[in-house]
Amino acid sequence: MKVTDKQFAKDYKILEAVCKELSVELKREGKSYFYYPDSKVIALPKCVKSKASLIVGLLHEIGHVIHRDSIFGGLSKTENHNRVIIVEGEYKAWEHGYYLLQKLNLEHYNNFYIKEWAKSWNLYIKHVKDCHKLELLNMRVSIID
Ligand SMILES: [Zn+2]
Repeated sequence: MKVTDKQFAKDYKILEAVCKELSVELKREGKSYFYYPDSKVIALPKCVKSKASLIVGLLHEIGHVIHRDSIFGGLSKTENHNRVIIVEGEYKAWEHGYYLLQKLNLEHYNNFYIKEWAKSWNLYIKHVKDCHKLELLNMRVSIID
């Protein structure tokens, strides 16, 4: 998806304002998208495939900020339960990002967002299935993010 510089600047500003409202700091660093809940920082990669992918990635990370409590939070902490909580968080973050996109009138990203969601989710399902150790899953989640 191609987006003009002017459109991108406008859309990015909208998402910056959302981050400010949520008291989250944005940083352009490293190679992947990531949300650090303890420091309330969203890291965005220095190099991106396209401006549209930056918007979509940022929407997803803001989705992580919005998703707070797990439905499964009350279960005892076993490796399997933790895995469920991680998977739930990833799905919810995409879902919250999608609702936010609609709420903020960023519908021009709608199809691209859904495509990226499906692509990421497919990769994700594969990794979760192949993954037997939680630490490994966490590591892989951060790469996909
Ligand atoms: Zn994520």
